Amino acid sequence: MSNPVRVRFAPSPTGPLHMGGVRTALYNYLYAKKHGGDFILRVEDTDQTRFVPGAEEYIVESLKWCGISPDEGIGTNVGEYGPYKQSERKHMYKQYAEQLIESGHAYYAFDTPEELDTMRERLKAAGVAAPQYNAVTRTTMKNSLTLSADEVQSRIDAGDPYIIRIKIPRNEEVRFEDEIRGWVVVHSSNIDDKVLYKSDGMPTYHLANIVDDHLMKISHVIRGEEWLPSAPLHVLLYRFFGWEAPKFAHLPLILKPDGNGKLSKRDGDRLGFPVFPLEWQDPKTQEISSGYKQKGYMASAFVNMLAFLGWNPGTTQELFTLEELVEAFTLERVGKSGAKFDPDKTKWFNQQYLRKAPATELAKDLKPLVEAKGWKADEAYLVQVIELMKERATFLEDMMEGAYLFEAPTDFDAKTVKKKWKEQTPDNMKAFAEKLAAIDAFSAENVEATFKAFLEEKELGMGQMLPNFRLLLTGLGMGPSMFAIAEMLGKEETLNRINIGLEKVVALKATA
Ligand code: GLU
Repeated sequence: MSNPVRVRFAPSPTGPLHMGGVRTALYNYLYAKKHGGDFILRVEDTDQTRFVPGAEEYIVESLKWCGISPDEGIGTNVGEYGPYKQSERKHMYKQYAEQLIESGHAYYAFDTPEELDTMRERLKAAGVAAPQYNAVTRTTMKNSLTLSADEVQSRIDAGDPYIIRIKIPRNEEVRFEDEIRGWVVVHSSNIDDKVLYKSDGMPTYHLANIVDDHLMKISHVIRGEEWLPSAPLHVLLYRFFGWEAPKFAHLPLILKPDGNGKLSKRDGDRLGFPVFPLEWQDPKTQEISSGYKQKGYMASAFVNMLAFLGWNPGTTQELFTLEELVEAFTLERVGKSGAKFDPDKTKWFNQQYLRKAPATELAKDLKPLVEAKGWKADEAYLVQVIELMKERATFLEDMMEGAYLFEAPTDFDAKTVKKKWKEQTPDNMKAFAEKLAAIDAFSAENVEATFKAFLEEKELGMGQMLPNFRLLLTGLGMGPSMFAIAEMLGKEETLNRINIGLEKVVALKATA
C-alpha cells in the first residue's frame, strides 16, 4: 500500500501572502482532498532577519477566507508532528547536521566573512563569473576537511563561530522525477556546498525543510517553480540521510498580464489590481496594500480564478466550486510553462459568481455597504435591488450604482432633459401620475399595463414618455426596467418623485 497523502504549505512569514502563494496552498489543498489526505500548514521562520510581524496571522486568515484552511499544523489544534513553527523546533536540527558530518556528507567551516570575500575576489580575478564554495574551493578554505581533527575540536571548544556545509559530491548527475516536469537532471558541479546550519544556532531553510518534511511524513512536495533549483540539493540530502524522498511537483510561474516575466506587486500597483488576498498594512512603512476581499471579490471567484492559473480541467468548463475542483484536479493537468494572470478574467469570474449567488445571502453582505453610505434598507428590499441589478454588476458594490434605489435624485441627466423633455411633457406626466395613483396593487405588471394604456389613450410613443418617467424617478437617462423600479419604490415614493422631479426639471428647463 502506498503512503497516505500528506502535503504541506510551508510559507516563510516574510510578508503578506502573494496570490502565487495562495495558488500553491490551493493546489496542495486540492491534492490532499482528492486523495483523502491531509493538508498541513508549517511556518518556516528560520531566517530571523526576514521575519515580519503579523505575516503568520495574515497567512492563516487568508487561507481561511479562501476556504482552504489546513487540517493540521499552524492555525489548527491538530497535529501529532508539531510544533509546526520551525523556530520552535530549533533544538531538533543540529543532531541531523551532525549526523551528516559523521557520515562524511557535511563539514564544519570556520571561514570569516573576510576570508570568504577574499576567496571570491581571487576567483573573480581568475575569470570565474560566479565564485562558489564548492568541491574545488573547499580544499583551500578553513574547514574540517582541510584542518586537522584536533584543530577543529579546539576551535569548537574555544567557541569559534562555525557553520555546517553540505559536501556536494564531485562529479555526479543528480536526478529526480518531477510530477509536472518529468526527469530533472543537474550536474553536481552546478551545486555549491550550501550552508545547512548557521552560526546563530539555526538551521537554514534547506536543512529544516528536509528534516521537517521527513519527520512530518510528507508524501508530496508541491511548491513554486522558484524552488526547482533547490530540489537537486534536497534530493541529495534525502539520500545522505538514507530517507525516502517525497514526490516533487514544481508549479509553473504566474506571469504578468503581458506574459513578460513574473507577476509582482508592482504590476498590480501599475495596472490597478490587487496581488494579495486580504488587505495588508506594512508594519514598517504603514503602507496599506489592498486585497481581493476589500476590492469586492468573492472568495469563491478568486479561488476559481487561481485554480486556472497553471491548471486546466481539459474541458470547456470554467466555473468550479471548491468541491468540483477537488474532484477534477490532477497534477498531470498542471502545465510546465508560466501562466499569464488576466485581471479582466478575474472580474469575469466575480461577475459569474455574483450572478449565481442567492440574493438573500448577498443582501446580508450588501447591508453594511448600503448603511456605510448613510442609506437605509431592509434585507427584503435589498433582495429586490440585487435581483434588479444582478445582470449589470461585477462587484457587490455595483448593486448600489443606482443611488436612486435608496434616495430621490437631486440631479437630472442633462442630455435627457435637453432631448426628451418637451413642452407638453409636464402635462403628460401629471396625467400619467393620476393613472398611477389609481392603481391598487402597485406591481411592475400593473404599472406597465397602466403605462401602455396611457400611451395608447394619448397616442404617445414610448420614446416620448419612458425616458422622462425614468428621469423623474432616477435622474438618469438609462437603467434597468422602469416598471420594476416603480414597484420597488412603491406608489407613494413614485408619485412623490414625479411631483418633486417635475418642479425641478421644469425649473431647470426654464433656466436652460
Ligand atoms: N519556506 C519556503 C517558502 O517560503 C518553502 C518552500 C518549499 O515549499 O519547500 O516558500
